[in-house]
Amino acid sequence: MDDSFKKASLNALKTMALLDDRQIKKVPQNYTIWYEYLSEENPAIKEAVNRLMKENGKFSEEVANQIYNEFFSHEKEGKAIRETNKLVQKSMEAVLREIRASSTGLEAYGNKLENFADNANDMTSDDFTTIVQQIIGETRDMSQRSFHLNESLSKASSEIDELRKRLKNVEQEALTDPLTGIANRKRFDRELQVASLHAKENQSKLCLIMSDIDHFKLFNDTHGHLFGDQVLRLVAHTLNNEIEETATTARYGGEEFGIILPNTSIANAIQIANKLRKSVSSKKLVKRNSGDDVGRITMSFGVAQFDHREHPTNLVSRADDALYNAKASGRDQVKFEMPELASA
Ligand code: GH3
Ligand code: MG
Ligand code: MG
Repeated sequence: MDDSFKKASLNALKTMALLDDRQIKKVPQNYTIWYEYLSEENPAIKEAVNRLMKENGKFSEEVANQIYNEFFSHEKEGKAIRETNKLVQKSMEAVLREIRASSTGLEAYGNKLENFADNANDMTSDDFTTIVQQIIGETRDMSQRSFHLNESLSKASSEIDELRKRLKNVEQEALTDPLTGIANRKRFDRELQVASLHAKENQSKLCLIMSDIDHFKLFNDTHGHLFGDQVLRLVAHTLNNEIEETATTARYGGEEFGIILPNTSIANAIQIANKLRKSVSSKKLVKRNSGDDVGRITMSFGVAQFDHREHPTNLVSRADDALYNAKASGRDQVKFEMPELASA
């Protein structure tokens, strides 16, 4: 056992004891936090845990979530990928070992057969019988070995398949906004990059809509953050359901959504934005538990068409300018930016 492994095992035991001691729920998130706390490799974690516990009086679920989001969630994807890679490697190594063992065996078997063929003519019948028996034995061994090899090959390939699926899920999760289930900012950036390259290559049109809920702070203050979250989900699904499959709706930030529209002219994009605007403002909001009618919300929209010479971030900032123009003009409306204006 090497030292780092010993140390890790010791820390794992200490972590379990600490969770027991402080009566902290033994869930992976808490385990991760306290393991890092005890290992003292990242002093910032220890400092944050101590500070938040002092502020809150105890290690509550809220404290745990805060710590986890701050220090671990962005690490999650990388960690899962590293672990999966390790498992794939292990699986492959096992198969390689089998193959090596088999091929050594196969060579010896081949040599024996060759030897037998060379000497068969000069053998007495007793020798012959013995050797044939040996060959039969060897052949049985060989076929058993290749049976094992086949089995471990198919085991490894299904393991690797499983791991590949797991990685795909991790990636999917990393690109999805947990609250609304639509694309997150990371996926937005990626899709916009791809869409802009595609538009440049094909000299095709590409538009972007940036949209933002009007007076959402007031809405939260009036109806509570939890109801605000429900409204964010409703808005996300409304936007997502009304656009074509080739388009991407993403939660760009808190209550701001970006919609990437490949092969779409600015005139069409403005139409689409207006359709979305009406769809959102037509929804009557009712509180699920009390049945209270809460009225409606509106959204403002900014539209811009991609100029093939610009960087995609410039397209975002032009659509954002149009959005702020829509806000300044009274909200619940669509404003746009023409590419000619951008390069002028
Ligand atoms: P404006 O019309 O100018 O956009 O006004 P606004 O109040 O919407 O703008 P502001 O940027 O001041 O406030 C945005 C609000 O969005 C503040 C924040 O509480 C809320 N918000 C951001 N993310 C979330 C979230 O995940 N859930 C909830 N419920 N509210 C959020
Ligand atoms: Mg807003
Ligand atoms: Mg905003």
